[in-house]
Amino acid sequence: MHTIRILLALLMLSATAAAEEKPWHASDVVLGLHGGIGQPPGELSKEEEQQIRSTLEEALLVGRKALEEKSATSLDAVEAAIRVLEDSPRFNAGKGAVFTWEGRNELDASIMEGRQKRAGAVAGVTIVKNPIAAARAVMEKSKHVMLAGRGAEVFATDAGLEIVDPSYFWTKARWEQLEEQRKAKSSSSSSQPARKSKHEWGTVGAVALDRHGNLAAGTSTGGMSGKRFGRVGDSPIIGAGTYADNAGCAVSCTGHGEYFIRFSVAHEINALMKYQHLPVEAAAEQVINQTLKKAGGSGGAIVLDARGSFSAAFNTEGLYRGWIGRDGEPQVRLYQ
Ligand code: ASP
Repeated sequence: MHTIRILLALLMLSATAAAEEKPWHASDVVLGLHGGIGQPPGELSKEEEQQIRSTLEEALLVGRKALEEKSATSLDAVEAAIRVLEDSPRFNAGKGAVFTWEGRNELDASIMEGRQKRAGAVAGVTIVKNPIAAARAVMEKSKHVMLAGRGAEVFATDAGLEIVDPSYFWTKARWEQLEEQRKAKSSSSSSQPARKSKHEWGTVGAVALDRHGNLAAGTSTGGMSGKRFGRVGDSPIIGAGTYADNAGCAVSCTGHGEYFIRFSVAHEINALMKYQHLPVEAAAEQVINQTLKKAGGSGGAIVLDARGSFSAAFNTEGLYRGWIGRDGEPQVRLYQ
């Protein structure tokens, strides 16, 4: 009897040690988010870095709070978190959206829930303050999945969403970024706009799990700086930039959109989990760091499954990301 007790105690001790070694962020997550690829390490001032961290933390806390209501859904958390990031000039979404080559802001967003796989998206909107809210309205108040341009704007106006003058999206940092690209183009022989300038990336996205076990994902962006007008990236495309499936996972992506569309990245990660039973981390790594990387597509994705396992994969130097669990402690990371 005495020996059995000792054996039991030893077993319990080793179980605790294993639980402590396990990266906690991989489990019990209720909300994860990203703020895009961001800047390589060392390019942000301490102050800028602090502002980005605190906005990501605020978005996590606001999103988690939205989950506390009894009737709250993962969609509520995704929308609430993304709105915080859209309202900040620091991210390439909403207020901080990048400019097209012609000097306008054209915003894209999408949202999806994993139980019935309902989805909504808007593309190329110029006057909707929070495109993620418009994407949700398309999902809940129309019989369509995606509305673009003027049609999306009229729909958002009729749905009672906040409408702003296009000048609301003008920020000095984004304008200077476009100017740099224009200068680089005129001083080079290339006929293409220069790529990868400072601040180019910064799309935002969120994935959430509610108490009913339902997943949701959303993504919002200004697209890629210096993009051709009318260009639509992966962010509003269900299966490319965003996907949610309770039987698989919730995914939000960021990166060079054309590659994410061609490789159906969000859906591909979900399919690897659903049909090959890969854990979130392995599924995300395989698509982002093998398939996409080999093809030359840079970017990353955040993934959450219905058990609360969260992972962020990226083939870039960093990915602004954060997650929060039932303990309510926001966790934020910017680089590798
Ligand atoms: N994926 C976005 C797009 O291509 C850009 C980004 O994530 O930074 O529009």
